[in-house]
Amino acid sequence: MSDGVRMHDERAAEPLRGQGELLLAGGRMLDPASGTDQHLDVRVRDGLVAEVGSDLAAGDAEVVDCAGLWVTPGLVDLHTHLREPGFEHAEDVASGSAAGAAGGYTALCAMANTDPVTDTAAIAELVARRGREHALADVFPVGAITKGLRGEELTEMGEMRRSTARVDFFSDDGIPVADALVFRRALQYATAFDAVICNHSEDPDLTAGAQMNEGEVASVLGLPGWPHEAEEVMIARDLILAAGVGARLHVPHVSTAGSVEIIRAAKAKGVRVSAEATPHHLSLDDELVRSYDPVLKVNPPLRTEADVHALRAALADGTIDCVATDHAPHAAETKDQEWEHAPCGMLGLETAFAVVNTELVASGLLDPLTAIARMTTGPAAVRDVGAHGGPIEAGRPANLAVLDPQATWTVDADRLHSRSRNSPFHGRELTGRAVHTLLRGRFTLRDGQVAASAAQPQEETL
Ligand SMILES: [Zn+2]
Ligand SMILES: [Zn+2]
Repeated sequence: MSDGVRMHDERAAEPLRGQGELLLAGGRMLDPASGTDQHLDVRVRDGLVAEVGSDLAAGDAEVVDCAGLWVTPGLVDLHTHLREPGFEHAEDVASGSAAGAAGGYTALCAMANTDPVTDTAAIAELVARRGREHALADVFPVGAITKGLRGEELTEMGEMRRSTARVDFFSDDGIPVADALVFRRALQYATAFDAVICNHSEDPDLTAGAQMNEGEVASVLGLPGWPHEAEEVMIARDLILAAGVGARLHVPHVSTAGSVEIIRAAKAKGVRVSAEATPHHLSLDDELVRSYDPVLKVNPPLRTEADVHALRAALADGTIDCVATDHAPHAAETKDQEWEHAPCGMLGLETAFAVVNTELVASGLLDPLTAIARMTTGPAAVRDVGAHGGPIEAGRPANLAVLDPQATWTVDADRLHSRSRNSPFHGRELTGRAVHTLLRGRFTLRDGQVAASAAQPQEETL
């Protein structure tokens, strides 16, 4: 599978297949939930894992040769901007989940900064329903913390929790909840049903007019800087407030070494905090901004090389629980403009595994099982994503990825499945790619080709 580009030549050419019995044979199973790292076969029947074992007989099953490949739980993304409803010119549930399937993902958490905002049970149910009807991955809506993301009045989080969308994760991501009293009330409210609160970590007073990371490169380029303290003071505030009321806090897109230290200290004290880092913050730094390429503009901004190293170490030691993409599509007409006017955000779903594999596994910093843990059990421990994230065992839904850790390919943004093109990895050679993705036993990606989006049976109680 070295010619990854060719594998993706024909997109959406096939209907969903794989209803018959399958035998994933000869792969290296990496199943963090059970601590398994060994060569095992997996039989898939009627949407479920039917059997796991050595040298299973094929019988009537279609054999899928997994020699040289990793068989893992389907990847789980806690932080996806699917843009539907309201911004379908940039992405929608169908195109975003196709990108997810291409990246090995079976579960996506859709952020609430849509139009309308996901701030009521009805809209959360609409997003979940769009997922059931059109998605190649299961879609778990994130509920807004405040009405209209205005940072003032809390949403009816309890109603969203009790709805059929069963929202247990709330964020105004894109906009910080700046008012400490409002945020404290949100944390208190969430404790009533043990939901997780996630605040876009940025003190807006410290970042007014900011264009990139504050530092040497910003000084040379003459761009207003975005200080690392803006992130760190907000995380510190949120941790103190969460600890005070015993609430669960999730810190998104950690980007600075200082943030890592603050989270590490809070974890040591027993604060109920989890944290994520993005593939781009784990691999890119602000030196790249010298190109003024607006595709590199993101919030929080690309930081320094020292920050990148601190994030990598924190992911390895578990201070950072998971890799989350912050997949943020923007249509070319808005993203392709002068740096100062371009919106923040990058694509992530189709390159996440490749970046983690290339930068962290191949370099020896993460062993394969830990890397997969950060993309499966890590996020699945933060919120309820149903039968995603493993374990891979008989009787459980067959939500699986088959990954080629050796496939080397050059990212071509024009060939990605997202409706947008803003990949910071365009033109880069990466190693590692999803070959097959199975959602409840059906191929959403097969031999590198994404299945046609189609209605399919899903759990009614997502
Ligand atoms: Zn954010
Ligand atoms: Zn985001």
